[in-house]
Amino acid sequence: MDDMTNPSVIKRYAQAHGFYLKKSMGQNFLIDGNIARRITNAACLSENDYVLEIGPGAGALTQYLINDAKHVFAVEMDSFACKILQEAFSGADNLTIINQDILKCELTDLLKDISGRIVCVSNLPYYITSPIIMKLLKSRISFESIIVMLQKEAAMRLRAKPGTKDYSSFTIAVEYYAQTQFLFDVPKSVFMPVPKVDSAVMKLSPRKQPFVDVKDVGLFFDVLKAGFAMRRKTLANCLNTALGIDKIDIVRILGDMGLEPACRGEKLTIQQFALLSDKIYGLIEEKKLD
Ligand code: SAM
Repeated sequence: MDDMTNPSVIKRYAQAHGFYLKKSMGQNFLIDGNIARRITNAACLSENDYVLEIGPGAGALTQYLINDAKHVFAVEMDSFACKILQEAFSGADNLTIINQDILKCELTDLLKDISGRIVCVSNLPYYITSPIIMKLLKSRISFESIIVMLQKEAAMRLRAKPGTKDYSSFTIAVEYYAQTQFLFDVPKSVFMPVPKVDSAVMKLSPRKQPFVDVKDVGLFFDVLKAGFAMRRKTLANCLNTALGIDKIDIVRILGDMGLEPACRGEKLTIQQFALLSDKIYGLIEEKKLD
C-alpha cells in the first residue's frame, strides 16, 4: 500500500483526481509517518474497536487506523479528497468513506449498529476545532476516547487554569464533559503546506457523569457563555447584559459565594460556575412565584 504521508505520493494522487489543497477547509496534511503512527497508537485500538475519523484528507492516519481497528468510518467534506481515499484504500473492506460536513453528520445514525468500543481520531480542521469537539462531547455516543491533533493555541485553552489568559468558556465546557490529557507537541514543519503555528495532540476521555451536577444544564451553559462574553467587564455586568438579571441580585449572589462584586468570569472554577448557575436558577424560580 502507498504511504499516504509521502508528499510525492500525495501529489501523484492529487493530480490524478484533480485535488488541490484548500486553506478554507483547514487542509494541512501530515507528512510524517512517525507522528501519524504516534497519534494512532494513542488510540490504543484493538481489532474489535470502531473508529470515527474526522477529516481523513489523503489518509495519513487512515492507513494505520484500518490496520488496527475493526472498522473505520471516515467523514471527509472534500469530495476530491474522498476520491483519493477511494483509490488509495480500494482494497480495504473495513473502511467507510462518508463525503459530508462533520457538523451536519448525524453521528447516532452513522454509528447506530455498532456494538463495540468507539474511538474518535482526528487531525482536526483547525477552523472548526471547538464546534467539532463540542459536537462529539454532546452527542449521545459513548466514545471510549477522542484523540485529536489541534493547534497549540486550542490545546492551551483546553489545559488552561482559572485566571489565565487562555482560560475560556470552551475550557470549562470541555471539562464538564471530559477529562483532558496533553499527549505531545507536533512541530509545524511536519505538515504540507506548513501552517503558521505548531500543533499538539490531546486525549479527551468522556466522563460517565458530568463533572458538576447542575439544576439546569442549558442555564449553566448560558451563564458560562455570558461569563466570558466581555472579558473587560465584571461578571455582574456580563450576566446583566446577556441574561437580563438585576445587578443587585447578582452582586448579592456573588457575595453569598464569597466573591467580590467586581469579580470577572475568568477567575471562577467550574464548581463556582455550577453554584452560580444554580443560584441564578433559584432566583428565576423565586421571581416566577412573585
Ligand atoms: N487527516 C489528514 C492528515 O492528517 O493529513 C488531513 C487533516 S487536515 C488538518 C483536515 C481535514 O479535514 C481536511 O482533509 C479537510 O478537507 C477536512 N475537513 C475540513 N472541514 C471539514 C468538515 N466540516 N467536515 C469533514 N471534514 C472536514
